[in-house]
Amino acid sequence: MKSIAIIGGGISGLAAAFTLEAQRCAASPVEYVLFESSPRFGGVIATEHVENCLVEAGPDSFLTEKPWAAELCRTLGLSDQLSGSNDAQRKTYILVNNKLVAIPDGLMFMVPTKFMPTLLSPLFSFRTKLQMAREWFHTSNQSAADETVASFVERHYGTEMVERLADPLLSGIYGGNASHLSMRAVLPRFLEMEARYGSLSRAMMAARAKTASNSARPLFTSLKDGMQLMVDNLVARLSPSALHLNRPVQSLRPQENGWMVSAGDESYPFDAVIMATPAHIAATLLQDASHDLSTELRAIPYISSVTVTLAYDQNVRAMLPSGFGFLVPRIEGKHLLATTFVHNKFSHRAPADRALIRCFLGGSRDQQILPSSDEEIVRIVREELQQILGLAAEPIFTRVYKWNAAMAQYTLGHLERLQRIRHFSQGLPALALAGNGYSGIGVPDCVRSGVDAVTALTANYSRNPQ
Ligand SMILES: Cc1cc2nc3c(=O)[nH]c(=O)nc-3n(C[C@H](O)[C@H](O)[C@H](O)COP(=O)(O)OP(=O)(O)OC[C@H]3O[C@@H](n4cnc5c(N)ncnc54)[C@H](O)[C@@H]3O)c2cc1C
Repeated sequence: MKSIAIIGGGISGLAAAFTLEAQRCAASPVEYVLFESSPRFGGVIATEHVENCLVEAGPDSFLTEKPWAAELCRTLGLSDQLSGSNDAQRKTYILVNNKLVAIPDGLMFMVPTKFMPTLLSPLFSFRTKLQMAREWFHTSNQSAADETVASFVERHYGTEMVERLADPLLSGIYGGNASHLSMRAVLPRFLEMEARYGSLSRAMMAARAKTASNSARPLFTSLKDGMQLMVDNLVARLSPSALHLNRPVQSLRPQENGWMVSAGDESYPFDAVIMATPAHIAATLLQDASHDLSTELRAIPYISSVTVTLAYDQNVRAMLPSGFGFLVPRIEGKHLLATTFVHNKFSHRAPADRALIRCFLGGSRDQQILPSSDEEIVRIVREELQQILGLAAEPIFTRVYKWNAAMAQYTLGHLERLQRIRHFSQGLPALALAGNGYSGIGVPDCVRSGVDAVTALTANYSRNPQ
Protein backbone atom coordinates (compact mmCIF):
# COMPACT_ATOMS: atom_id res chain seq x y z
CA MET A 1 0.00 0.00 0.00
CA LYS A 2 1.40 3.43 -0.98
CA SER A 3 0.42 6.44 1.09
CA ILE A 4 0.24 9.91 -0.44
CA ALA A 5 -0.09 13.25 1.36
CA ILE A 6 -1.86 16.02 -0.54
CA ILE A 7 -1.06 19.45 0.83
CA GLY A 8 -3.65 22.13 -0.07
CA GLY A 9 -7.37 21.63 -0.56
CA GLY A 10 -8.02 24.07 -3.40
CA ILE A 11 -9.30 22.76 -6.73
CA SER A 12 -5.83 21.36 -7.61
CA GLY A 13 -5.54 19.32 -4.39
CA LEU A 14 -9.18 18.21 -4.61
CA ALA A 15 -8.73 17.04 -8.22
CA ALA A 16 -5.69 15.03 -7.09
CA ALA A 17 -7.64 13.54 -4.16
CA PHE A 18 -10.58 12.63 -6.39
CA THR A 19 -8.24 10.86 -8.83
CA LEU A 20 -6.66 8.89 -5.97
CA GLU A 21 -10.09 8.08 -4.55
CA ALA A 22 -11.09 6.61 -7.92
CA GLN A 23 -7.93 4.49 -7.92
CA ARG A 24 -8.59 3.37 -4.34
CA CYS A 25 -12.16 2.35 -5.23
CA ALA A 26 -10.75 0.39 -8.18
CA ALA A 27 -8.69 -1.61 -5.64
CA SER A 28 -5.35 0.07 -6.39
CA PRO A 29 -3.03 -0.17 -3.39
CA VAL A 30 -3.06 3.57 -2.59
CA GLU A 31 -4.32 5.67 0.30
CA TYR A 32 -4.22 9.43 0.71
CA VAL A 33 -4.63 12.18 3.26
CA LEU A 34 -5.58 15.75 2.29
CA PHE A 35 -4.27 18.53 4.56
CA GLU A 36 -5.96 21.93 4.29
CA SER A 37 -4.87 24.83 6.45
CA SER A 38 -8.15 26.79 6.40
CA PRO A 39 -11.60 25.85 7.77
CA ARG A 40 -12.97 25.16 4.26
CA PHE A 41 -12.05 23.39 1.03
CA GLY A 42 -11.96 25.12 -2.35
CA GLY A 43 -9.15 27.65 -1.93
CA VAL A 44 -10.08 30.72 -3.98
CA ILE A 45 -13.29 29.08 -5.26
CA ALA A 46 -16.20 30.29 -3.12
CA THR A 47 -19.83 31.14 -3.90
CA GLU A 48 -22.25 33.11 -1.75
CA HIS A 49 -26.00 33.35 -2.26
CA VAL A 50 -27.19 36.81 -1.23
CA GLU A 51 -30.76 38.08 -1.68
CA ASN A 52 -31.49 35.81 -4.66
CA CYS A 53 -28.20 36.76 -6.32
CA LEU A 54 -25.32 34.39 -6.87
CA VAL A 55 -22.03 36.01 -5.91
CA GLU A 56 -18.74 34.46 -6.96
CA ALA A 57 -15.95 35.51 -4.60
CA GLY A 58 -13.13 34.10 -6.76
CA PRO A 59 -13.33 32.55 -10.24
CA ASP A 60 -16.73 33.07 -11.86
CA SER A 61 -16.36 30.64 -14.80
CA PHE A 62 -13.77 28.85 -16.89
CA LEU A 63 -12.74 28.91 -20.53
CA THR A 64 -14.86 26.44 -22.50
CA GLU A 65 -12.02 25.54 -24.84
CA LYS A 66 -10.03 24.03 -21.94
CA PRO A 67 -12.01 20.84 -21.27
CA TRP A 68 -10.68 19.51 -17.93
CA ALA A 69 -12.98 21.33 -15.50
CA ALA A 70 -16.14 20.59 -17.51
CA GLU A 71 -15.07 16.94 -17.86
CA LEU A 72 -14.63 16.72 -14.10
CA CYS A 73 -18.10 18.24 -13.58
CA ARG A 74 -19.59 15.62 -15.93
CA THR A 75 -17.84 12.84 -14.00
CA LEU A 76 -19.33 14.30 -10.82
CA GLY A 77 -22.82 14.11 -12.36
CA LEU A 78 -23.08 17.87 -12.79
CA SER A 79 -23.73 17.96 -16.56
CA ASP A 80 -27.08 19.69 -15.98
CA GLN A 81 -25.33 22.40 -14.06
CA LEU A 82 -22.92 23.38 -16.85
CA SER A 83 -24.04 26.64 -18.31
CA GLY A 84 -22.42 28.83 -20.96
CA SER A 85 -21.95 32.58 -20.87
CA ASN A 86 -24.71 34.54 -22.57
CA ASP A 87 -22.68 35.23 -25.71
CA ALA A 88 -25.52 37.08 -27.42
CA GLN A 89 -24.48 39.86 -24.98
CA ARG A 90 -20.77 39.34 -25.58
CA LYS A 91 -19.56 42.87 -25.95
CA THR A 92 -16.64 44.19 -23.91
CA TYR A 93 -15.63 47.82 -23.57
CA ILE A 94 -12.30 49.51 -22.98
CA LEU A 95 -12.13 52.70 -20.97
CA VAL A 96 -10.53 55.37 -23.15
CA ASN A 97 -10.30 58.92 -21.74
CA ASN A 98 -12.98 57.97 -19.21
CA LYS A 99 -15.40 56.81 -21.94
CA LEU A 100 -16.39 53.23 -22.74
CA VAL A 101 -15.43 52.17 -26.26
CA ALA A 102 -16.54 48.75 -27.50
CA ILE A 103 -13.88 46.27 -28.61
CA PRO A 104 -14.67 45.89 -32.31
CA ASP A 105 -16.43 42.75 -33.45
CA GLY A 106 -14.08 40.05 -34.74
CA LEU A 107 -11.05 41.01 -32.64
CA MET A 108 -9.61 37.76 -31.23
CA PHE A 109 -7.49 38.91 -28.28
CA MET A 110 -5.54 41.47 -30.35
CA VAL A 111 -5.93 39.95 -33.81
CA PRO A 112 -8.48 41.51 -36.16
CA THR A 113 -10.44 38.92 -38.14
CA LYS A 114 -13.10 41.29 -39.52
CA PHE A 115 -11.93 44.21 -41.59
CA MET A 116 -14.74 46.79 -41.39
CA PRO A 117 -15.53 46.79 -37.64
CA THR A 118 -11.84 47.30 -36.83
CA LEU A 119 -11.40 49.97 -39.48
CA LEU A 120 -14.39 51.94 -38.19
CA SER A 121 -13.64 51.49 -34.48
CA PRO A 122 -12.67 54.59 -32.48
CA LEU A 123 -10.62 52.33 -30.17
CA PHE A 124 -7.50 52.59 -32.34
CA SER A 125 -5.72 55.46 -34.05
CA PHE A 126 -5.19 55.57 -37.80
CA ARG A 127 -1.53 54.63 -37.20
CA THR A 128 -2.49 51.41 -35.38
CA LYS A 129 -5.03 50.53 -38.06
CA LEU A 130 -2.31 50.95 -40.67
CA GLN A 131 -0.04 48.69 -38.63
CA MET A 132 -2.84 46.08 -38.48
CA ALA A 133 -3.03 46.13 -42.27
CA ARG A 134 0.76 45.78 -42.56
CA GLU A 135 0.70 42.89 -40.09
CA TRP A 136 -0.76 40.73 -42.85
CA PHE A 137 2.75 40.72 -44.37
CA HIS A 138 4.59 40.06 -41.08
CA THR A 139 7.33 37.42 -41.31
CA SER A 140 8.29 34.87 -38.62
CA ASN A 141 10.59 35.86 -35.81
CA GLN A 142 13.73 33.71 -35.92
CA SER A 143 14.76 34.36 -32.30
CA ALA A 144 14.39 31.41 -29.92
CA ALA A 145 14.53 33.64 -26.81
CA ASP A 146 11.52 34.21 -24.60
CA GLU A 147 9.97 37.68 -24.82
CA THR A 148 7.34 39.60 -22.92
CA VAL A 149 3.75 39.79 -24.15
CA ALA A 150 4.19 43.55 -24.54
CA SER A 151 7.21 43.12 -26.82
CA PHE A 152 5.45 40.50 -28.95
CA VAL A 153 2.26 42.55 -29.40
CA GLU A 154 4.28 45.67 -30.10
CA ARG A 155 6.22 43.88 -32.86
CA HIS A 156 2.94 42.98 -34.55
CA TYR A 157 0.61 45.91 -33.85
CA GLY A 158 2.49 48.70 -32.06
CA THR A 159 2.38 50.22 -28.56
CA GLU A 160 -1.21 51.43 -28.67
CA MET A 161 -2.40 47.82 -29.00
CA VAL A 162 -0.37 46.94 -25.90
CA GLU A 163 -1.75 49.85 -23.87
CA ARG A 164 -5.36 49.70 -24.99
CA LEU A 165 -5.92 45.96 -25.32
CA ALA A 166 -3.18 43.46 -24.43
CA ASP A 167 -2.24 44.93 -21.05
CA PRO A 168 -5.85 45.57 -19.88
CA LEU A 169 -6.83 42.02 -20.93
CA LEU A 170 -3.94 40.50 -18.99
CA SER A 171 -4.67 42.73 -15.98
CA GLY A 172 -8.30 41.65 -16.12
CA ILE A 173 -7.45 37.94 -16.31
CA TYR A 174 -4.16 37.47 -14.44
CA GLY A 175 -3.92 40.76 -12.58
CA GLY A 176 -0.70 40.85 -14.59
CA ASN A 177 1.48 43.25 -16.53
CA ALA A 178 2.14 42.67 -20.25
CA SER A 179 5.67 44.04 -19.83
CA HIS A 180 6.55 41.25 -17.38
CA LEU A 181 4.57 38.21 -18.52
CA SER A 182 6.28 35.58 -20.66
CA MET A 183 4.88 35.06 -24.13
CA ARG A 184 6.01 31.44 -24.18
CA ALA A 185 4.28 30.65 -20.88
CA VAL A 186 1.12 32.75 -21.22
CA LEU A 187 0.23 32.82 -24.93
CA PRO A 188 2.15 30.00 -26.61
CA ARG A 189 -0.57 29.56 -29.26
CA PHE A 190 0.24 32.98 -30.73
CA LEU A 191 3.92 32.03 -30.97
CA GLU A 192 2.97 28.88 -32.86
CA MET A 193 0.84 31.00 -35.20
CA GLU A 194 3.72 33.38 -35.77
CA ALA A 195 6.16 30.53 -36.40
CA ARG A 196 3.85 28.98 -38.98
CA TYR A 197 2.33 31.99 -40.73
CA GLY A 198 4.38 35.03 -39.74
CA SER A 199 1.20 37.10 -39.62
CA LEU A 200 -1.27 36.48 -36.77
CA SER A 201 -4.14 37.78 -38.89
CA ARG A 202 -3.40 35.22 -41.60
CA ALA A 203 -3.02 32.47 -38.96
CA MET A 204 -6.32 33.39 -37.31
CA MET A 205 -8.15 33.37 -40.65
CA ALA A 206 -6.81 29.89 -41.38
CA ALA A 207 -7.77 28.65 -37.89
CA ARG A 208 -11.28 30.12 -38.16
CA ALA A 209 -11.86 28.38 -41.46
CA LYS A 210 -11.01 25.05 -39.78
CA THR A 211 -12.99 25.57 -36.54
CA ALA A 212 -16.11 27.22 -37.99
CA SER A 213 -18.22 24.32 -36.74
CA ASN A 214 -17.19 25.04 -33.11
CA SER A 215 -18.13 28.70 -33.23
CA ALA A 216 -21.46 28.10 -31.47
CA ARG A 217 -19.68 27.16 -28.23
CA PRO A 218 -19.89 29.80 -25.50
CA LEU A 219 -16.61 31.39 -24.55
CA PHE A 220 -17.04 30.73 -20.81
CA THR A 221 -18.67 27.89 -18.90
CA SER A 222 -19.86 27.99 -15.32
CA LEU A 223 -22.15 26.11 -12.97
CA LYS A 224 -25.72 27.33 -12.59
CA ASP A 225 -25.59 27.15 -8.80
CA GLY A 226 -22.06 28.50 -8.60
CA MET A 227 -18.47 27.32 -8.80
CA GLN A 228 -18.57 26.16 -5.18
CA LEU A 229 -20.85 23.31 -6.26
CA MET A 230 -17.89 21.66 -7.97
CA VAL A 231 -15.92 21.82 -4.71
CA ASP A 232 -18.83 20.52 -2.60
CA ASN A 233 -19.39 17.60 -4.96
CA LEU A 234 -15.72 16.70 -5.00
CA VAL A 235 -15.52 16.74 -1.21
CA ALA A 236 -18.67 14.59 -0.95
CA ARG A 237 -16.99 11.90 -3.08
CA LEU A 238 -13.84 11.70 -0.96
CA SER A 239 -13.29 9.45 1.99
CA PRO A 240 -14.17 11.58 5.10
CA SER A 241 -11.39 10.04 7.17
CA ALA A 242 -8.84 11.29 4.60
CA LEU A 243 -9.89 14.92 4.90
CA HIS A 244 -8.28 17.29 7.39
CA LEU A 245 -9.43 20.90 7.66
CA ASN A 246 -7.68 23.47 9.87
CA ARG A 247 -4.52 21.39 9.52
CA PRO A 248 -1.68 23.53 8.06
CA VAL A 249 1.36 21.53 7.13
CA GLN A 250 4.36 23.10 8.85
CA SER A 251 7.26 21.10 7.51
CA LEU A 252 8.26 18.33 5.16
CA ARG A 253 11.32 16.20 5.84
CA PRO A 254 12.69 13.77 3.26
CA GLN A 255 13.20 10.22 4.62
CA GLU A 256 14.91 7.24 3.06
CA ASN A 257 11.77 6.08 1.24
CA GLY A 258 9.38 8.98 1.48
CA TRP A 259 8.52 12.00 3.59
CA MET A 260 7.74 12.94 7.17
CA VAL A 261 4.92 15.48 7.09
CA SER A 262 4.36 17.62 10.20
CA ALA A 263 0.97 19.23 10.74
CA GLY A 264 -0.23 20.54 14.10
CA ASP A 265 1.43 18.58 16.89
CA GLU A 266 1.81 15.43 14.87
CA SER A 267 4.11 14.01 12.21
CA TYR A 268 3.08 11.37 9.70
CA PRO A 269 5.18 9.23 7.34
CA PHE A 270 4.13 9.10 3.66
CA ASP A 271 5.57 7.43 0.59
CA ALA A 272 4.87 10.46 -1.59
CA VAL A 273 3.70 14.06 -1.43
CA ILE A 274 1.56 16.16 -3.79
CA MET A 275 2.19 19.85 -3.07
CA ALA A 276 -0.98 21.67 -4.17
CA THR A 277 -0.39 25.00 -2.44
CA PRO A 278 0.73 28.21 -4.17
CA ALA A 279 4.41 27.89 -5.17
CA HIS A 280 5.63 30.38 -2.53
CA ILE A 281 4.16 28.17 0.22
CA ALA A 282 5.70 25.08 -1.38
CA ALA A 283 9.01 27.01 -1.33
CA THR A 284 8.77 27.53 2.42
CA LEU A 285 7.76 23.93 3.16
CA LEU A 286 10.54 22.51 0.98
CA GLN A 287 13.23 24.91 2.23
CA ASP A 288 15.03 22.27 4.32
CA ALA A 289 14.55 19.47 1.79
CA SER A 290 16.18 21.35 -1.11
CA HIS A 291 17.45 24.90 -0.98
CA ASP A 292 17.75 25.01 -4.80
CA LEU A 293 14.19 23.82 -5.39
CA SER A 294 12.87 26.21 -2.79
CA THR A 295 14.70 29.16 -4.39
CA GLU A 296 13.21 28.39 -7.81
CA LEU A 297 9.70 27.99 -6.38
CA ARG A 298 9.99 31.27 -4.51
CA ALA A 299 11.01 33.03 -7.72
CA ILE A 300 7.52 32.49 -9.17
CA PRO A 301 5.85 35.79 -8.29
CA TYR A 302 2.30 35.85 -6.90
CA ILE A 303 0.00 38.85 -6.75
CA SER A 304 -3.00 39.62 -4.58
CA SER A 305 -6.39 40.66 -5.87
CA VAL A 306 -9.74 41.91 -4.65
CA THR A 307 -13.21 41.26 -6.04
CA VAL A 308 -16.08 43.53 -5.14
CA THR A 309 -19.69 42.71 -5.98
CA LEU A 310 -22.42 45.33 -5.84
CA ALA A 311 -26.14 44.70 -6.37
CA TYR A 312 -28.55 47.38 -7.56
CA ASP A 313 -32.23 47.71 -8.44
CA GLN A 314 -33.92 47.57 -11.81
CA ASN A 315 -33.46 51.31 -12.51
CA VAL A 316 -29.72 50.80 -12.50
CA ARG A 317 -30.05 47.67 -14.60
CA ALA A 318 -31.94 49.69 -17.21
CA MET A 319 -29.29 52.43 -17.36
CA LEU A 320 -26.21 50.17 -17.58
CA PRO A 321 -24.69 49.43 -20.99
CA SER A 322 -25.33 46.06 -22.64
CA GLY A 323 -22.41 43.61 -22.78
CA PHE A 324 -20.16 41.64 -20.43
CA GLY A 325 -18.37 44.63 -18.92
CA PHE A 326 -15.25 46.74 -19.36
CA LEU A 327 -11.47 46.74 -18.94
CA VAL A 328 -9.42 49.65 -17.70
CA PRO A 329 -6.00 50.45 -19.23
CA ARG A 330 -3.39 51.56 -16.67
CA ILE A 331 -3.06 54.97 -18.37
CA GLU A 332 -6.60 55.80 -17.14
CA GLY A 333 -5.22 55.94 -13.59
CA LYS A 334 -8.03 53.99 -11.90
CA HIS A 335 -8.02 51.35 -9.18
CA LEU A 336 -10.51 49.25 -11.18
CA LEU A 337 -8.85 46.69 -13.47
CA ALA A 338 -12.03 45.17 -14.89
CA THR A 339 -15.77 45.23 -14.26
CA THR A 340 -18.31 42.56 -15.20
CA PHE A 341 -22.02 43.17 -15.70
CA VAL A 342 -22.87 39.78 -14.19
CA HIS A 343 -26.61 39.97 -15.00
CA ASN A 344 -25.68 40.16 -18.71
CA LYS A 345 -22.84 37.61 -18.74
CA PHE A 346 -24.63 34.94 -16.65
CA SER A 347 -28.28 35.98 -16.57
CA HIS A 348 -29.36 33.34 -14.04
CA ARG A 349 -27.14 34.90 -11.35
CA ALA A 350 -29.44 37.84 -10.69
CA PRO A 351 -33.24 38.17 -10.74
CA ALA A 352 -34.66 40.21 -13.63
CA ASP A 353 -35.09 43.27 -11.38
CA ARG A 354 -31.50 43.35 -10.14
CA ALA A 355 -28.20 44.55 -11.60
CA LEU A 356 -25.14 42.67 -10.36
CA ILE A 357 -21.75 44.30 -10.94
CA ARG A 358 -18.46 42.60 -10.12
CA CYS A 359 -15.23 44.57 -10.00
CA PHE A 360 -11.67 43.27 -10.04
CA LEU A 361 -8.91 45.26 -8.31
CA GLY A 362 -5.34 44.80 -7.07
CA GLY A 363 -3.09 42.80 -9.37
CA SER A 364 0.46 43.86 -10.19
CA ARG A 365 -0.84 47.38 -10.87
CA ASP A 366 -2.24 48.12 -7.43
CA GLN A 367 -1.00 45.91 -4.58
CA GLN A 368 -1.32 48.96 -2.29
CA ILE A 369 -5.10 48.58 -2.17
CA LEU A 370 -4.97 45.27 -0.28
CA PRO A 371 -4.51 46.71 3.25
CA SER A 372 -7.46 49.11 2.77
CA SER A 373 -10.60 48.33 4.75
CA ASP A 374 -13.63 46.85 2.98
CA GLU A 375 -15.49 50.14 3.50
CA GLU A 376 -12.69 52.11 1.88
CA ILE A 377 -12.54 49.68 -1.07
CA VAL A 378 -16.31 49.96 -1.63
CA ARG A 379 -16.00 53.76 -1.45
CA ILE A 380 -13.25 53.73 -4.11
CA VAL A 381 -15.21 51.37 -6.35
CA ARG A 382 -18.41 53.41 -6.09
CA GLU A 383 -16.53 56.63 -6.83
CA GLU A 384 -14.95 55.14 -9.96
CA LEU A 385 -18.24 53.58 -11.12
CA GLN A 386 -19.82 57.01 -10.77
CA GLN A 387 -17.03 58.59 -12.85
CA ILE A 388 -17.25 55.93 -15.57
CA LEU A 389 -20.94 54.96 -15.66
CA GLY A 390 -22.58 57.89 -13.90
CA LEU A 391 -23.74 55.37 -11.30
CA ALA A 392 -24.58 57.24 -8.10
CA ALA A 393 -27.32 54.96 -6.70
CA GLU A 394 -27.00 53.27 -3.33
CA PRO A 395 -26.21 49.54 -3.74
CA ILE A 396 -28.65 47.01 -2.23
CA PHE A 397 -25.70 45.05 -0.92
CA THR A 398 -21.95 44.86 -1.41
CA ARG A 399 -19.40 42.11 -0.86
CA VAL A 400 -15.60 42.41 -0.77
CA TYR A 401 -13.24 39.43 -1.02
CA LYS A 402 -9.46 39.69 -0.74
CA TRP A 403 -7.18 37.02 -2.12
CA ASN A 404 -3.66 37.34 -0.79
CA ALA A 405 -0.78 36.14 -2.98
CA ALA A 406 -3.11 33.72 -4.77
CA MET A 407 -2.44 34.40 -8.47
CA ALA A 408 0.81 33.24 -10.05
CA GLN A 409 2.53 35.40 -12.65
CA TYR A 410 4.37 33.59 -15.40
CA THR A 411 7.17 36.09 -15.94
CA LEU A 412 9.98 36.02 -18.50
CA GLY A 413 11.90 32.71 -18.34
CA HIS A 414 9.04 30.84 -16.61
CA LEU A 415 9.41 27.69 -18.76
CA GLU A 416 13.15 27.48 -18.07
CA ARG A 417 12.36 27.86 -14.35
CA LEU A 418 9.95 24.92 -14.60
CA GLN A 419 12.72 22.81 -16.12
CA ARG A 420 15.01 23.65 -13.19
CA ILE A 421 12.17 22.86 -10.76
CA ARG A 422 11.72 19.44 -12.39
CA HIS A 423 15.46 18.85 -12.21
CA PHE A 424 15.76 19.73 -8.50
CA SER A 425 12.60 17.70 -7.63
CA GLN A 426 14.19 14.58 -9.07
CA GLY A 427 16.78 14.52 -6.30
CA LEU A 428 14.03 14.14 -3.65
CA PRO A 429 11.69 11.31 -2.60
CA ALA A 430 8.49 11.00 -4.68
CA LEU A 431 7.14 14.54 -5.01
CA ALA A 432 4.67 16.09 -7.47
CA LEU A 433 3.70 19.74 -7.75
CA ALA A 434 0.18 20.85 -8.65
CA GLY A 435 -1.51 24.23 -8.67
CA ASN A 436 -1.60 27.48 -10.55
CA GLY A 437 2.10 28.26 -10.24
CA TYR A 438 3.29 26.05 -13.06
CA SER A 439 1.41 25.25 -16.28
CA GLY A 440 -1.80 27.26 -16.32
CA ILE A 441 -3.56 29.53 -13.87
CA GLY A 442 -7.19 28.86 -14.82
CA VAL A 443 -9.48 26.40 -13.05
CA PRO A 444 -9.29 23.81 -15.90
CA ASP A 445 -5.48 23.90 -15.85
CA CYS A 446 -5.49 23.46 -12.07
CA VAL A 447 -7.80 20.43 -12.36
CA ARG A 448 -5.44 18.97 -14.94
CA SER A 449 -2.41 19.69 -12.72
CA GLY A 450 -3.98 17.69 -9.86
CA VAL A 451 -4.76 14.73 -12.12
CA ASP A 452 -1.30 14.87 -13.72
CA ALA A 453 0.38 14.93 -10.29
CA VAL A 454 -1.29 11.61 -9.44
CA THR A 455 -0.44 10.14 -12.84
CA ALA A 456 3.21 11.10 -12.41
CA LEU A 457 3.44 9.50 -8.95
CA THR A 458 1.52 6.34 -9.76
CA ALA A 459 3.48 5.81 -13.01
CA ASN A 460 6.59 5.95 -10.86
CA TYR A 461 5.12 3.29 -8.52
CA SER A 462 4.27 0.91 -11.33
CA ARG A 463 7.92 1.11 -12.43
CA ASN A 464 9.22 0.72 -8.82
CA PRO A 465 6.54 -1.22 -6.90
CA GLN A 466 8.66 -1.40 -3.70
C1 LIG B 1 -10.08 36.58 -7.73
C2 LIG B 1 -9.75 35.44 -8.67
C3 LIG B 1 -10.50 35.28 -9.82
C4 LIG B 1 -10.22 34.23 -10.69
N1 LIG B 1 -11.00 34.06 -11.79
C5 LIG B 1 -10.85 32.97 -12.55
C6 LIG B 1 -11.80 32.65 -13.56
O1 LIG B 1 -12.80 33.35 -13.73
N2 LIG B 1 -11.60 31.52 -14.29
C7 LIG B 1 -10.54 30.69 -14.08
O2 LIG B 1 -10.42 29.66 -14.77
N3 LIG B 1 -9.63 30.95 -13.11
C8 LIG B 1 -9.77 32.06 -12.34
N4 LIG B 1 -8.89 32.31 -11.33
C9 LIG B 1 -7.74 31.41 -11.14
C10 LIG B 1 -8.14 30.10 -10.45
O3 LIG B 1 -9.30 30.28 -9.71
C11 LIG B 1 -7.03 29.64 -9.51
O4 LIG B 1 -5.79 29.62 -10.18
C12 LIG B 1 -7.30 28.23 -8.97
O5 LIG B 1 -8.58 28.13 -8.40
C13 LIG B 1 -6.21 27.90 -7.95
O6 LIG B 1 -6.48 26.65 -7.37
P1 LIG B 1 -5.36 25.92 -6.48
O7 LIG B 1 -5.99 24.75 -5.84
O8 LIG B 1 -4.15 25.67 -7.30
O9 LIG B 1 -4.92 27.01 -5.40
P2 LIG B 1 -5.77 27.65 -4.20
O10 LIG B 1 -7.18 27.83 -4.55
O11 LIG B 1 -4.96 28.86 -3.80
O12 LIG B 1 -5.69 26.55 -3.05
C14 LIG B 1 -4.53 26.31 -2.31
C15 LIG B 1 -4.96 25.75 -0.96
O13 LIG B 1 -3.81 25.44 -0.20
C16 LIG B 1 -4.11 25.73 1.16
N5 LIG B 1 -2.86 25.84 1.90
C17 LIG B 1 -1.96 26.86 1.89
N6 LIG B 1 -0.93 26.59 2.73
C18 LIG B 1 -1.16 25.37 3.28
C19 LIG B 1 -0.46 24.55 4.21
N7 LIG B 1 0.71 24.94 4.76
N8 LIG B 1 -1.01 23.36 4.55
C20 LIG B 1 -2.19 22.95 4.03
N9 LIG B 1 -2.90 23.71 3.14
C21 LIG B 1 -2.39 24.89 2.76
C22 LIG B 1 -4.89 27.03 1.06
O14 LIG B 1 -5.63 27.30 2.23
C23 LIG B 1 -5.77 26.75 -0.14
O15 LIG B 1 -7.01 26.19 0.21
C24 LIG B 1 -9.14 33.35 -10.42
C25 LIG B 1 -8.37 33.52 -9.26
C26 LIG B 1 -8.67 34.55 -8.39
C27 LIG B 1 -7.86 34.73 -7.12
